[in-house]
Amino acid sequence: MTILSIVGARPNFIKVAPLHRAFQQRSGVTSRIVHTGQHYDTRMSEVFFRQLNLPQPDYYLDVVGGSPTRQTADIMTKFEDVLLAEKPDWVVVVGDVTSTLACALVAVRQGVRVAHVEAGLRSGDRRMPEEINRILTDSLSDKLFVTEQAGLDNLLREGVPADRIHFVGNVMIDALLQCRAQARSLNTVDTLGLTPRQYVLMTMHRPSNVDRPEGLETIIRLVADTARHQMVLLPLHPRTTANLNRFGLMDNLAAIPNVRLLEPQGYLEFLNLMEHATAVVTDSGGVQEETTYLNVPCLTFRDSTERPATVTLGTNTLLADLNPDAVQAALTDVFTGNAKQGNVPPLWDGYAANRIAALLQNS
Ligand code: UDP
Repeated sequence: MTILSIVGARPNFIKVAPLHRAFQQRSGVTSRIVHTGQHYDTRMSEVFFRQLNLPQPDYYLDVVGGSPTRQTADIMTKFEDVLLAEKPDWVVVVGDVTSTLACALVAVRQGVRVAHVEAGLRSGDRRMPEEINRILTDSLSDKLFVTEQAGLDNLLREGVPADRIHFVGNVMIDALLQCRAQARSLNTVDTLGLTPRQYVLMTMHRPSNVDRPEGLETIIRLVADTARHQMVLLPLHPRTTANLNRFGLMDNLAAIPNVRLLEPQGYLEFLNLMEHATAVVTDSGGVQEETTYLNVPCLTFRDSTERPATVTLGTNTLLADLNPDAVQAALTDVFTGNAKQGNVPPLWDGYAANRIAALLQNS
């Protein structure tokens, strides 16, 4: 049996690493990786292959930049040739990026079965391109692997037949567990001249937050509010850097006292920084899950989350609308040691990829 796994952007590399490993461990399974080239540079792509022990991709599509529409079209055209050459039994797509939807659509057109890992997540906010990608990918998929109860409930409510849905746990947590010891052995915190629990780690990159100057200005206020309590460490996503420069806001951010702007971090370095942070402030999907697992307080500056278990069970608090009173209350809780404690959601145990591999091989 041949399984083609699709990667395009940073979170995909992390999710596919444990999957590729689990597929390879099964006799009779050939696992191949297709990299669309959505994220391509050293810091957003290559470092993850190295740190996560991923082999060089079998196919690299070298997709064009530009709008999501152009990218979608280019990925589809190029991936069609790969499918015709490979004729796989399964195409595995993960998450909610442009590559996820584009490759799922081509596979379905070619009559190849699609498995979606991290299916069923819904923020309920259709202004997010990621939400559209999730809904459409799920509607195209033959097997839907969910990470939390809400994923299962959403899919059943949308009418997906129950026998296509499998609650398997979270491959992002598989990756974390596979890399945690190595991440802990780094001295990233020291190297940056920091003291554990004396800094807040922050990330921002959602188009809904960083593609408009008003969104960026609101976030810059949040950075300033946080930095009044403790040093803020801010590895900047390339999209955020580009937009801060485009809207002339980079200097405003850089001028805030007690803030350190960094390049995007490698996975191991970022795990190390999360584990030692007082709190993490983010709009990332994966980071909400990782902080819940690590029991580190997480403040998510979004109006909704497609990962509600991180709020109901985990350490995540939503800062909807960045309401100033709510922000102040959440920051006070964090810095007085009163942030909520969390539990690890069911099946986030490091074996999700093994469950997925077994289910695919037996179907
Ligand atoms: N991450 C990283 N370096 C960074 C920021 C994030 O390795 O500088 C990792 C993080 O640990 C998580 C993943 O990237 O595993 C999340 O990716 P991102 O926030 O880009 O995507 P999302 O999860 O929001 O789709």
